[in-house]
Amino acid sequence: RAQAGPPVFDNSYARLPDRFFARPADNPVSAPKLIRVNRPLAAELGLDAAWLESPDGIGMLAGNGFPASAEPIAQAYAGHQFGNFVPQLGDGRALLIGEVIDTSGKRRDLQLKGSGRTLFSRGGDGRAAVGPVLREYVVSEAMAALGIPTTRTLAAVATGDPVYRETPLPGAVLARVAASHIRIGTFQYFAVRQDVEAIRILADHAIGRHFPDLAEREQPYLALLEKVIAVQADLVARWMLVGFIHGVMNTDNMTISGETIDYGPCAFMDEYHPGTVFSSIDMQGRYAYANQPRIAAWNLTRFAETLLPLLNDDQDEAVRMAEGALKTFQSAYDATFHHGWRLKLGLLADQDGDLQLVSDLLAIMASNQADFMLTFRGLADEIDGSAGEDSVGRLFAEPKEFQDWAERWRQRLAQEPTQTAERRKVMLSTNPKYIPRNHRVEAVIKAAVEGGDFRPFEELLEVIIRPFDEQPERAAYALPPQQHERVLQTFCGT
Ligand code: AMP
Ligand code: MG
Ligand code: MG
Repeated sequence: RAQAGPPVFDNSYARLPDRFFARPADNPVSAPKLIRVNRPLAAELGLDAAWLESPDGIGMLAGNGFPASAEPIAQAYAGHQFGNFVPQLGDGRALLIGEVIDTSGKRRDLQLKGSGRTLFSRGGDGRAAVGPVLREYVVSEAMAALGIPTTRTLAAVATGDPVYRETPLPGAVLARVAASHIRIGTFQYFAVRQDVEAIRILADHAIGRHFPDLAEREQPYLALLEKVIAVQADLVARWMLVGFIHGVMNTDNMTISGETIDYGPCAFMDEYHPGTVFSSIDMQGRYAYANQPRIAAWNLTRFAETLLPLLNDDQDEAVRMAEGALKTFQSAYDATFHHGWRLKLGLLADQDGDLQLVSDLLAIMASNQADFMLTFRGLADEIDGSAGEDSVGRLFAEPKEFQDWAERWRQRLAQEPTQTAERRKVMLSTNPKYIPRNHRVEAVIKAAVEGGDFRPFEELLEVIIRPFDEQPERAAYALPPQQHERVLQTFCGT
């Protein structure tokens, strides 16, 4: 049950040594106005949604004033940005207000993003514009609805203040909920300072918070490394299965908990191509769709390096231990990835040649500009003949290429021990129909920024929180962009 009134925070991170964070100055905004409170999430957290929507609640969500139990801090971290190491990044426009224990007993961070400058702001203004706040709200909630581990969005509040990007834009603050905000970059911050004591404190904190069973292990820090590798491998495989491109997989944007974090220039693919990049700042395509698992493994190698002093007094032996752990990435990734693809095709049994069938489909999807979501969702209708004549083939520039593939797929399905209805059910619960397509997200942002109209945002949100349900009245949301609606680039700061 929700506790009436303001949240009661219990702040384990703020109890860590002073060098883990900075305490911010006051940074009030002019005229906070609620955009939306995520009521189902508030209920899950045991928070009083009515209080959050009250003037005091909105004030907290805007960073203007905090309940007595809050202890706002900006967390210190470092990170590799596009491969280049930056020894100090930190929360430059975020504030951890505090931690709450949710209704299932889990500790969750409540953090504001866009709440003003901190010690870590460098040249930045510490603010966020309403556009990226709405993007993060929609995409993070879509990911949660898809069953993919992610930070969540509790609320968005307009500030009444402009933020200056290329042009003045309306400002907003997002309230983010996370299992924790500990990143690979948090470990790197202390590693580069050779502060082994801090690394140990942080590792113990992360184990206690996320993987308490590991504390009993003979080698808890090796177990932590193995666990983070496992959860990140699983996470990135899940992104791949829904065509999600994070866009900025810097080491400061990878959590220890295994939740997706930092929704910037992220996007879901429309037409399938492994080289797809949306982010305007990713010139080299470092974070392209197909590179994501490789980058995750690279980032995890950076994580392993920070743990070397904890693994063994003999550093050669520590390196061997870390290398052994890093080798498990591929099999952990493959386990989720292969299983996931088979389910997407309705293959519940495991046969040799299944992966070839998947990669052959992906290859013709790429060369035929086939829409990712519609192709897989369409296969579910195709298997019991409920689809219209050649409904999937029509998505391919050369329908014949799909038909030839589909013939092989049907032969393979004939060897399945399962009933068609059962397969179809699995396919409909693993191939979403509604994802926040980029052109929809852009339209939502445009309506809000140019017309102050948040109704398209509300409507898109309603659609994407039920990604697997048929929503006939909202069927247009399943469609790819028309030529003139296509969005080729996404931006971080606008
Ligand atoms: P990101 O690219 O979102 O992972 O951010 C990288 C770093 O830049 C983090 O330290 C952020 O806190 C910081 N940062 C991003 N935008 C701003 C901003 N508008 N003001 C201050 N710091 C920022
Ligand atoms: Mg970040
Ligand atoms: Mg960001």
